[in-house]
Amino acid sequence: MSERAAPEAIVVGAGPAGLMAAETLARAGIGVTIYERMAAPARKLLLAGRGGLNLTHGEPLDRFLGRYGATRAFVEPAVRAWPPSAAVAWCEGLGQPTFTGSSGRVFPKALKASPLLRAWLNRLGGLGVELRLGHRFTGWTPDGAIRFETAAGGVVEVRPRATLLALGGASWPRLGSDGGWVAPLAAAGVALAPLGPSNAGVAIGWSDRFASRFAGQPLKRVAISIGGVRARGEAMVTRAGLEGGAVYALNAPIRAALGRDPSRAAAGALDLRPDLDAGDLARRLARPRGKQSMTTFLRKSIRLSPVDIALMRETAEGELPKDPEDLAAAIKAVPLAITGFTGLERAISSVGGVRRESVDEAFMLSALPGVFVAGEMLDWDAPTGGYLLQATLATAVAAASGMAERLAAS
Ligand SMILES: Cc1cc2nc3c(=O)[nH]c(=O)nc-3n(C[C@H](O)[C@H](O)[C@H](O)COP(=O)(O)OP(=O)(O)OC[C@H]3O[C@@H](n4cnc5c(N)ncnc54)[C@H](O)[C@@H]3O)c2cc1C
Repeated sequence: MSERAAPEAIVVGAGPAGLMAAETLARAGIGVTIYERMAAPARKLLLAGRGGLNLTHGEPLDRFLGRYGATRAFVEPAVRAWPPSAAVAWCEGLGQPTFTGSSGRVFPKALKASPLLRAWLNRLGGLGVELRLGHRFTGWTPDGAIRFETAAGGVVEVRPRATLLALGGASWPRLGSDGGWVAPLAAAGVALAPLGPSNAGVAIGWSDRFASRFAGQPLKRVAISIGGVRARGEAMVTRAGLEGGAVYALNAPIRAALGRDPSRAAAGALDLRPDLDAGDLARRLARPRGKQSMTTFLRKSIRLSPVDIALMRETAEGELPKDPEDLAAAIKAVPLAITGFTGLERAISSVGGVRRESVDEAFMLSALPGVFVAGEMLDWDAPTGGYLLQATLATAVAAASGMAERLAAS
């Protein structure tokens, strides 16, 4: 076991929250060391970059804040203090110009995270921030030191003046954030909500034939409804069920429907042509079919794709209806029997974590004065669209600013 000379402040976790907290502290003149369990920082940010890195969203702030649903009040002060315009300015300040897509989503023009991360790590190095990789936080010793297990098999104990935990949620655990912090925080008396998948795919019991032929194929411009809530967008067939934007947007009503009776599937309905109402669709389907097969007819008359048609056949009890009105109704409400979420392994984010009542307005734990928390390990939730990174970065700025004030006052 080794004990290191006390750094002024430590940040644990080198994801976007940890790096932003370190930047904020270093700019306030505080000596910072970051400890990270993995051999490289920000693995999940780099994965997010593969989807273009949706940094934030350009819609009016009030609507933006509404995306956090029941958890809005938890993140609102931090997001108001460091709003989407601050995220854009920060990204551009790192030499990565941004653009706003037609949906209002904001991305770096490079549509990836690696150049941004490279510039960020250079900036942090220039500010004197130290990064110690291969250090896994395991909790506190009985006399209050922070304990790490190193990749080399050793144990390191540190006694900083202040600590900021930015250990992420529990999705994609192989990238580093596995929720291993739950046990030490619970033992220290911190109130936590259980971690679970969010922005996750759903499980649907496809036949082997459908899953093996169509997994990986997109359902473009569809709408899904469940529990009275409707979301338009894309979905993708997976071996286990469905994933994609339209599914993620409905995670909350799906969770509610599953919670009502866990032994029963949640019943959703997929509209394959949300741009046409049932009457228009029936009129197009009333045209003479001639000698065309039903598949060719549906492809040509209303431009359904092979996966759309296969999905209708997969979920239909028996033959597809021949009557145009019945067929239109079937196209606008393909039944989906959702049996659950597909798990944390591939979820975009997680719900649960450090509860609002466990922290003060600067995200300092009341059970552990001097220990601050930021990013996805806090118990807020939002859909995809840039809301996740925005709250992650904004809570990091708020927590680090609170820590800087506390250090200055002591
Ligand atoms: C596929 C995918 C795509 C995404 N795309 C987007 C997007 O386009 N836009 C968006 O807004 N959000 C997106 N997200 C979500 C976004 O990546 C997360 O919200 C964000 O990374 C959370 O940041 P964080 O710093 O709180 O946690 P993390 O990024 O998870 O970082 C936490 C860090 O702490 C480290 N750590 C964990 N436990 C320990 C320990 N015990 N000891 C030491 N270190 C530890 C981890 O290794 C990790 O480096 C995406 C997520 C995924 C999975």
